[in-house]
Amino acid sequence: MMKWEENVRRVVPYTPGEQPDRANVIKLNTNENPYPPAPGVVKSIAALEQDKMRLYPAFPEQTHLAEALASYYQIDRDQIFIGVGSDDVLSLAFMTFFQSDRPILFPDITYSFYDVWADLYKIPYETKALNEHFGIRTEDYRQPNGGVVFPNPNAPTGILLDTGQVEEIIAANRDVVVIVDEAYIDFGGASCLPLIRKYDNLLVVQTFSKSRSMAGMRIGYAMGNPKLIRYLNDVKYSVNSYTLNYASLQLGVEAVLDAAYFEETCGKIVRTRERAKEELGRLGFVFPDSYGNFIFASHKRIPAQEIFERLKENDIYVRWWNKERIRNYLRITIGTDAQMEALYRRLREIVGD
Ligand SMILES: *Cc1c(COP(=O)(O)O)cnc(C)c1O
Repeated sequence: MMKWEENVRRVVPYTPGEQPDRANVIKLNTNENPYPPAPGVVKSIAALEQDKMRLYPAFPEQTHLAEALASYYQIDRDQIFIGVGSDDVLSLAFMTFFQSDRPILFPDITYSFYDVWADLYKIPYETKALNEHFGIRTEDYRQPNGGVVFPNPNAPTGILLDTGQVEEIIAANRDVVVIVDEAYIDFGGASCLPLIRKYDNLLVVQTFSKSRSMAGMRIGYAMGNPKLIRYLNDVKYSVNSYTLNYASLQLGVEAVLDAAYFEETCGKIVRTRERAKEELGRLGFVFPDSYGNFIFASHKRIPAQEIFERLKENDIYVRWWNKERIRNYLRITIGTDAQMEALYRRLREIVGD
């Protein structure tokens, strides 16, 4: 080890799903949306102004995007923070709000970025074990802590807490910030957004990456009490003021304005997911009832790793983690009906149906 390495901030980074750079791959491994973004998004690419690329972009909270989001969610602009995907928003929120000596709390099986940020920012944390059915036990979040974060629906299980259960957790934690990561809320769940009026310590985080088909444009946002948003902005402007680029700020607007397209594509994914539950059940899989654009499934006979590898040999990518409690599960993103049919055909061969 070199001497200078003693002073390096060392982290074990988050591992994203593979992004194979080949045509004809059926990519069901990173919960991307199989449908294109709203037609207006693609049309407005041509309207991007060359001269605007020369200038620094506008501050996100002063843009049409903030205006469109505020109007869509019926909140004020000072209740919204916009960042470079919700990973950026969440990471800044960890940095901003989790400053206590007490541990922050999150589930043991959850979005695998949370412990990475906690390690990176040296935030003490404690994970709370999901119950045997992978459900969050709300009573686990009643101990003294430095903050709480969880996805709803949870990832990678897809299990949804109802708004009453979410409120139970927030109400038990009035002295710390509670972050609810709603990356998948648009696939059939009810957002806890209305609770931001009642709880000034609630931050609701959402993203354009899944339900709005724009993972590549990196747009995420948080909604909460103006004071929370101000603290977040103070930290953001202390790291890098100009986070969201001009193109994303422009194109994101169109995705928000086209509510009909948004509802149509989310509805399609929900219908395909419900059919997938029937089909996977017939093939001998068991899985929690998912409200996300994915299903977390385990086969009754065949190990998940084997299915994962055999699908990959056939250019069908799903996600598998070699991790305690979940190594016999596959997370399968909901694709188009045609992609799902191709998956079922392969699975039928693999499970020998
Ligand atoms: C995908 C995902 C995110 C982050 O997505 P971005 O592309 O950074 O917006 C955050 N939380 C959960 C639970 C996710 O699955």
